[in-house]
Amino acid sequence: MKKRMKQLICSTAMLALITALPFTASAASYTVQKNDTLWIIGTKYSTTAAQLKKLNGLTSDSLIIGQRLLVPDPPEFTSASVLTDDTMWKIAQRYNVPLPKLIAANPQLPDPNNIWTGLSIRIPKSPKQYLNGVFPIAKGKYTPFSNSYAEARSWSADGTAVRAHEGVDILAPKGTAVYSAMGGTIVKAGWNEYGGWRITVRVDDNTEFYYAHLSKYATGIKEGVKVAAGQLIGYVGSTGYGPEGTEGKFVTHLHFGIYKQSPSYHAIDPYLFLKWWSL
Ligand SMILES: [Zn+2]
Repeated sequence: MKKRMKQLICSTAMLALITALPFTASAASYTVQKNDTLWIIGTKYSTTAAQLKKLNGLTSDSLIIGQRLLVPDPPEFTSASVLTDDTMWKIAQRYNVPLPKLIAANPQLPDPNNIWTGLSIRIPKSPKQYLNGVFPIAKGKYTPFSNSYAEARSWSADGTAVRAHEGVDILAPKGTAVYSAMGGTIVKAGWNEYGGWRITVRVDDNTEFYYAHLSKYATGIKEGVKVAAGQLIGYVGSTGYGPEGTEGKFVTHLHFGIYKQSPSYHAIDPYLFLKWWSL
């Protein structure tokens, strides 16, 4: 189902490119629990059932409780082994990560108070900036997301150019609340032919956060207005890819991008920031 939805927002011609993305070499170990499926485990590790089968040399989808599987380290985590007498609190101190984020990064642990020597756990990677950012959609209101930055997208005004995707797409139903990830000033609001109803927030001298495809703005949201981190700014939609008012050309989602002003105006990969904020 996840793959089917992804096809709706990606150019089918470029799917080969997406599936050919390099598979991370480093791997950690996971013990199969009751009611687990390859798909469920895949969502916990930002991977797919097919990649899990390949990594483990499995020929069928059936799993046994207690079975050990190799799981990839996604780019937003590193793996670490639990030391003698360790607690999650001690590990959080050692790696300079807030304890709630460390616990949230390890949903595979049924009880974070019950860890043992040698157990492999995940340490979330801190981004270099915006550590106190707020994920733009509330927990539980969006579909687990992967890194869609720099994927090729085919839509352009004249119908010819293939563009690199300048952000990450987060799938959520129409009308889901969107919050400002950081405080700043709205420098652009209104329609653009790619992003539909979009909002651009300047968060510091060199950086703008971009929220696109909104179905509508929150009350009072317009150019020149200051917003705080976590403030409601609009609602998820599927606007864009055409003249003003165009909607429904792709599955409903929030497109989130980060742009730097210098040396020239350019997009950077927002994925690690989003993952950190999501914990
Ligand atoms: Zn997008």
